[in-house]
Amino acid sequence: SKTQVGFIGLGNMGKPMAKNLLKHGYPVVATDVFPESCKELQELGAQIVDNPAEVADQTDRIVTMLPSSPNVIEVYTGPNGILKKVKKGSLLIDSSTIDPAVSKEMAVAAEKMGAVFMDAPVSGGVGAASSGKLTFMVGGVEEEFTAAQELLTCMGANVVYCGAVGTGQAAKICNNMLLAIGMIGTSETMNLGIRLGLDPKLLAKILNMSSGRCWSSDTYNPVPGVMEGVPSGNNYQGGFGTQLMAKDLGLAQTTATNTKTPVPLGSLAHQIYRMMCARGYAGKDFSSVFQFLREDEDK
Ligand code: NAD
Repeated sequence: SKTQVGFIGLGNMGKPMAKNLLKHGYPVVATDVFPESCKELQELGAQIVDNPAEVADQTDRIVTMLPSSPNVIEVYTGPNGILKKVKKGSLLIDSSTIDPAVSKEMAVAAEKMGAVFMDAPVSGGVGAASSGKLTFMVGGVEEEFTAAQELLTCMGANVVYCGAVGTGQAAKICNNMLLAIGMIGTSETMNLGIRLGLDPKLLAKILNMSSGRCWSSDTYNPVPGVMEGVPSGNNYQGGFGTQLMAKDLGLAQTTATNTKTPVPLGSLAHQIYRMMCARGYAGKDFSSVFQFLREDEDK
């Protein structure tokens, strides 16, 4: 039988990912700071423990899925962190989207304890997390990739090796900068079409058979009623939070600054998502930029 896998961070993404490990027959030992997030997994047979150190005490393969860099630093190097109890030879896979510089720091800290750290951020959203169809972008020592792949293929359809530690994050940050630009573009386009008298479903259909088609138009349309099973159809609840998108765009800006790379649309997208956070959209799905662009409707 398969040996235990640790999972830390059972939020919108982590919960369905951990469920897929269970489905593939891996016993799961999990924890989350928010006890309510652990309930469902516990009912499905996962063992819930108090903190990351206890997870590390029981397993030698751990996946973390946390909001941002400070949470990852806490979970790895904090007083009850993984590295307090990590076993030699352990494989630590972080699927959160964070600063690649922090991934590199975590890799160094893990190596000091005889463990291996890899960054493996994901693309695909909650739908792909549930159906096990995520794309993983993996950075770290190449010799360890096969071991990581064994677990990641239970949760994803594509597992891509990117290079040294931090390069998975680099790929992810680039993807999300383009995603944000595409979502804002789709939202303003749909809104303009609606105001020109087009039916939004028809407009989406035309875009999706034309050169304007993108993931935000055909898989995650931001206009309520155009598609089923996406956050726009559920008052922008669940999905990928605006606050998380603002974080990823901030990471893109930092890395662009460090490399003196011009990213004008990425900068503008960052500012739009920052403004949304300040205007009460932080907890809504990032496709609510459509709603944000229509605030003038009420005035
Ligand atoms: P989330 O906020 O829903 O979940 C994060 C979970 O981590 C929460 O349950 C929280 O309680 C837990 N947590 C925070 N600090 C902790 C700690 N110290 N110890 C234990 N648990 C802790 O976020 P999410 O939507 O699941 O996203 C997770 C990561 O994946 C983020 O970096 C995000 O950018 C990235 N991501 C999200 C999506 C998406 O569609 N939601 C898609 C791709 C990537």
